[in-house]
Amino acid sequence: MGSGCGGGVAAAVIAKSGAKVLVLEKANYFKRAEYKLTEESAFHNLYENGAAIATTDTGLSILAGSSFGGGSQVNDHIQV
Ligand SMILES: Cc1cc2nc3c(=O)[nH]c(=O)nc-3n(C[C@H](O)[C@H](O)[C@H](O)COP(=O)(O)OP(=O)(O)OC[C@H]3O[C@@H](n4cnc5c(N)ncnc54)[C@H](O)[C@@H]3O)c2cc1C
Repeated sequence: MGSGCGGGVAAAVIAKSGAKVLVLEKANYFKRAEYKLTEESAFHNLYENGAAIATTDTGLSILAGSSFGGGSQVNDHIQV
C-alpha cells in the first residue's frame, strides 16, 4: 500500500487496534543527511519516475511523490 498519507495513516490506525501491519514501500529510504537538496537529486529520489509522468496523450503532466513517506515527504524536504 506504500508509506504515503493514505497507507501510512491506515497502517497506524490498524496497528493501534493491535493487529500486526507490514508497510511495503517501493521507494528508497534515506536519512535526512543523505539527501542532496538539489533539483536533480530531489526529482530522482522523491518523485515517481523522476517527476516525468504524463497522460498517454501527454496533455497532462502528473507530479507524484514516491519516497519513504510518500508524497508528503516532498514538502518535508522542501522546508529544510
Ligand atoms: C510537490 C507536491 C506538493 C504537495 N503539496 C500538498 C499540500 O501542500 N497539501 C496537501 O494537502 N497535499 C499536497 N500534495 C498532495 C499530497 O502529497 C497527496 O495528495 C498525498 O500524498 C496522496 O497520498 P497517497 O497515500 O494517496 O499517495 P502517496 O503519498 O503518493 O504515497 C504513495 C506511496 O506508495 C508508493 N508505491 C506506489 N506503488 C507502490 C507499489 N506497487 N509497491 C509499494 N509502494 C508503492 C509510492 O512510492 C509512494 O511513496 C502535494 C503533492 C506534491 C507532489
